[in-house]
Amino acid sequence: MKKKQLLAILLLVAGLLPAQSQESTCPSQTYVLEHPYPVEKITPPKGHKIKNVILMIGDGMSLMHVYSAWTANRGNLWLQNAQYTGLSKTYCANKLITDSGAGGTALACGYKTNYHSVGVDVNGKPLKSLCNLAQAKGKSSGIVVTCRLWDATPADFCCHNVDRDQEKAIVTDYVNCGVDYAFGGGSSYFENREDGRNLFKELQQKGYQTPRTWNDLAKIKSGKVFAVPYSKDTPVPAIRKDLLARASLKGLNLLDQNKKGFFMMIEGSQLDDYGHSNDLNMLMQETLDFDQTIGKVLQWAAKDGETLVIVTADHETGGLTLVDGDLKQGKIVCCFSTHEHSGVMVPVYAFGPGAENFSGIYENTDIFWKIKKLLNL
Ligand SMILES: [Zn+2]
Repeated sequence: MKKKQLLAILLLVAGLLPAQSQESTCPSQTYVLEHPYPVEKITPPKGHKIKNVILMIGDGMSLMHVYSAWTANRGNLWLQNAQYTGLSKTYCANKLITDSGAGGTALACGYKTNYHSVGVDVNGKPLKSLCNLAQAKGKSSGIVVTCRLWDATPADFCCHNVDRDQEKAIVTDYVNCGVDYAFGGGSSYFENREDGRNLFKELQQKGYQTPRTWNDLAKIKSGKVFAVPYSKDTPVPAIRKDLLARASLKGLNLLDQNKKGFFMMIEGSQLDDYGHSNDLNMLMQETLDFDQTIGKVLQWAAKDGETLVIVTADHETGGLTLVDGDLKQGKIVCCFSTHEHSGVMVPVYAFGPGAENFSGIYENTDIFWKIKKLLNL
């Protein structure tokens, strides 16, 4: 081969290689956010006193979800108001790739436990959650989710079982959990039960108001509330609109009546479901709904001045990868690599007094221990 021919072939190969490497090896989906929402800059409080902590969990939300949502909303997210960021290692006691049971238990109770366990240690012994510890110190506590309350993440904060699939047994633990405010779906396992129990009646006997519609909840001005307006999960974002934000703010205003402060967990529950089903359109709707809820919560916290807000995830779901897109058009092209959870550190975002404690790389359980220390629980 002559030198000239060799050079021509080399140039041809060099020209082709980048083009080949840009092709994704998985089937991609495209999503365009037609109507981007405005995002404001929030001034963080100047004081150092921490009276309340709000822990927000995007179930299955990784940096890829955040960056995809950021691209879809034309380079804007409320989440960008976070002052400090960190990375959380999510592996559980007996598996590298965790689930919501063990992943949420690490955040709620501070211990790595076995896959599929909720609110118990590796020996099946019940653990105290941040809700329980807050109550023991005279603070109030609450949980707000868009899924059924017997799903793993909310259960991690109130219930105890080695098997997250024992949902009808798990849900009975809410009667003795003691949270001051609960909002979520899943009424079908609270009543008409095979064991004859009616958990709403039992909750009422413990002093709870048990509204079954948003309108009934909206009228409540004080006292303990257990609101379960849906038989299973709450409806999709296009139908429920800003329900997660409304239910969260309602809870914040109720819990804030306690002069000693509160702990609240808010979950964007269904990012995980659409990661499992590899549905990019619904996944982005849920992620953007969660971000808008974050915006409302950060605004509330900034006004309050003594509230620390942490936003994180329990694990990643779907192996989401952004392979192409357009910031100006709000267009994203993504692939999924699995229908299950994947192994990756998840981001931690912090806003408000004490936020500086959440930078760095640490275990998911450290998020519990940091919150416990900062709230003096
Ligand atoms: Zn999860």
